[in-house]
Amino acid sequence: MTRILAVANQKGGVGKTTTSINLAAGLSRAGKRVLLVDLDPQGNATMGSGIDKRASRATVYEVLLGDSDIETARIRCENGDFDLVPANKELAGAEVELVAMERRENRLKEALAEVESEYDYILVDCPPALNLLTVNGLTAAHAVMIPMQCEYYALEGLSDLVQTIKKVRNHLNPTLEIEGLLRTMYDSRNTLSQQVSDQLQKHFGAKVYRTIIPRNIRLAEAPSHGLPAIHFDKSSKGALAYLSLADEILRQPSSSQ
Ligand code: ATP
Ligand code: MG
Repeated sequence: MTRILAVANQKGGVGKTTTSINLAAGLSRAGKRVLLVDLDPQGNATMGSGIDKRASRATVYEVLLGDSDIETARIRCENGDFDLVPANKELAGAEVELVAMERRENRLKEALAEVESEYDYILVDCPPALNLLTVNGLTAAHAVMIPMQCEYYALEGLSDLVQTIKKVRNHLNPTLEIEGLLRTMYDSRNTLSQQVSDQLQKHFGAKVYRTIIPRNIRLAEAPSHGLPAIHFDKSSKGALAYLSLADEILRQPSSSQ
């Protein structure tokens, strides 16, 4: 069974893309067949996977509009050993163009159905907004992974995301689950980080992944080399944390075994 995970949080810069790339590479390293879908006009997951977003080729934009199929748009990322459906700034226009289309929330889900059986995991890197692109990601997914930075405002906005997930569940995707909340950019010397982390565990209990992603400079450096951190510096703390996250996900009863 394929497991489709949307990596989402409308807050910017919380580690969605870093998580998507490193988890894709980590699951692939464990022998899983992985597809990463860049659903953000910023194209960060594309660049961070070593693919030039400015090259002229089919992207997720054409896929959503029905002008390309996913088999044409996907590219093999040798750097991470997974497949990628790239994105670039053209995707920003999709929001407007999709509004007039039928079944506009289901475009990604329907496109993925063509290739789903070829993968164990499909990860969707969502943009920092609760827009139609993110709704496409949530409608296509079995579950949502929510990266959260352990800082004062982290919990603010989480209720909006949870509301959106509920709406998608009610109208578009009844079986959508919250897979887990991932603590990112964690600084153990900072008492606020610990307090927010404690609060998350109190509210969400077992939904909080045991793995914590520390603040680690190697994670921030890796994208400029077009490499997942787990290949750029596999002994760095950040890389080890993402490998342990991949392991935790593979051990879950709901995982794609
Ligand atoms: P956006 O909302 O813009 O899509 P995002 O949620 O995808 O952002 P990232 O792009 O993954 O977040 O991370 C934001 C920035 O922080 C990037 O420069 C990234 O390299 C850096 N970063 C991510 N995780 C860590 C970490 N654990 N330690 C240090 N730097 C990190
Ligand atoms: Mg991002």
